[in-house]
Amino acid sequence: MPQGFEVCRVSAVRLMSSQVRNVTIAAESLAGFAFEPGADVAIRLPRGDGGADERHYSVWKSTAEGKFDLCVVLHGLGPGSQWAARCAVGDPVEISRSRALPIALDRSVEAHLLFGDETSIASAEALIRALPAEAVVLACFEVASMDRRWPDPEVARPEAVRWVDRAGRPGSALVSWLARQSLPSANSTTAYVTGEAWLCAMVHAHLVRDRGFPTGAVAPCHTGRPSPDRPDHGRAQPRGRFHCATAGR
Ligand SMILES: Cc1cc2nc3c(=O)[nH]c(=O)nc-3n(C[C@H](O)[C@H](O)[C@H](O)COP(=O)(O)OP(=O)(O)OC[C@H]3O[C@@H](n4cnc5c(N)ncnc54)[C@H](O)[C@@H]3O)c2cc1C
Repeated sequence: MPQGFEVCRVSAVRLMSSQVRNVTIAAESLAGFAFEPGADVAIRLPRGDGGADERHYSVWKSTAEGKFDLCVVLHGLGPGSQWAARCAVGDPVEISRSRALPIALDRSVEAHLLFGDETSIASAEALIRALPAEAVVLACFEVASMDRRWPDPEVARPEAVRWVDRAGRPGSALVSWLARQSLPSANSTTAYVTGEAWLCAMVHAHLVRDRGFPTGAVAPCHTGRPSPDRPDHGRAQPRGRFHCATAGR
């Protein structure tokens, strides 16, 4: 087994929505380990040729008994999605705990805006659950169809979450919705933007250019899934989603 990976077992699987599968993973070695809000794991997916692919998934929830939950979009095209669709209780799975947080909670502000797509919900949820009850929260996720939205009982603050139907290029519908919202003051707000590269770029540009969030407060980003009309975009970068955190203060 490659360094940094540990063998776990799939301990439960269920459909969260029509195209999102919730996979619970367990290992004795994880007992007592606390994943930070927004943390992710890398999953090693062996290929038939002796090599392996790796995909990162956000930890939605975890327990002190060594179990944690992922929520994987079943788009059907790649090894990550195919693994999530097929895995069954008892299957071994190799995971590596990521050392760096892709996006960290900013506990210094009063208001938190969380924007993204289907792949963003687990990490956004983990961040929201870690916030104090008095924190102002507004989240909006752009989904390919409304049957991909998570059911209200699965969401920590359903009253703070909005869903928009994707229309055209990823991010267009989310930005159209955002443009109609009055947002908390940029001075006391942090916006967390994750998901597909175009969506992140559009939402980030809207927040900075049109809504006065300072550019100097943009955290490093990394890209992954190619945009539909820029197939080479992100190839030279680490795999995964484009993440950016826009902090306004
Ligand atoms: C820190 C981090 C956290 C992440 N958390 C999550 C998470 O919680 N849940 C999650 O589902 N993913 C998450 N991802 C994305 C995940 O790592 C994979 O990129 C994703 O599952 C696609 O991998 P794949 O092997 O299925 O497809 P790939 O082999 O990467 O791609 C195959 C084809 O599928 C297309 N494709 C890829 N993703 C999608 C999609 N969502 N919808 C439609 N088409 C797609 C690609 O454009 C490509 O054409 C996260 C990524 C990072 C970096």
